Amino acid sequence: MTSAKVKEFTEDGVVYTKNGEEVTIGGFDTIALATGVKAYNPLEEELKDFAGKVIVVGDAKVPGTANLATEAGLAAAFEI
Ligand SMILES: Cc1cc2nc3c(=O)[nH]c(=O)nc-3n(C[C@H](O)[C@H](O)[C@H](O)COP(=O)(O)OP(=O)(O)OC[C@H]3O[C@@H](n4cnc5c(N)ncnc54)[C@H](O)[C@@H]3O)c2cc1C
Repeated sequence: MTSAKVKEFTEDGVVYTKNGEEVTIGGFDTIALATGVKAYNPLEEELKDFAGKVIVVGDAKVPGTANLATEAGLAAAFEI
């Protein structure tokens, strides 16, 4: 079910909305989450007036893999 937004989990299912319509489905014993992710980084905006340097790495910048986040963290460490 694409473009469906899960609103809440129930005892045996979920409540989701799709195209503005709320739907409840149930009767399940297992729920597998396969949602996408996006960066959530409100701190960068809060630090915009900080006089020093702000470096954003990893999933805070772009969601990716652990090795990419580690590489970016190492590069940031060398940069400072
Ligand atoms: C379910 C799942 C499976 C994954 N599987 C893989 C995989 O198999 N292989 C792979 O390479 N990658 C995988 N990834 C991706 C990988 O986990 C991330 O890319 C990586 O962890 C990003 O590292 P990060 O340091 O940027 O963020 P994170 O590892 O998320 O670290 C951020 C840290 O900041 C802390 N934090 C958040 N807000 C604040 C705050 N306000 N103050 C202080 N600390 C704060 C958090 O508690 C967390 O410890 C997976 C991700 C998910 C969600």
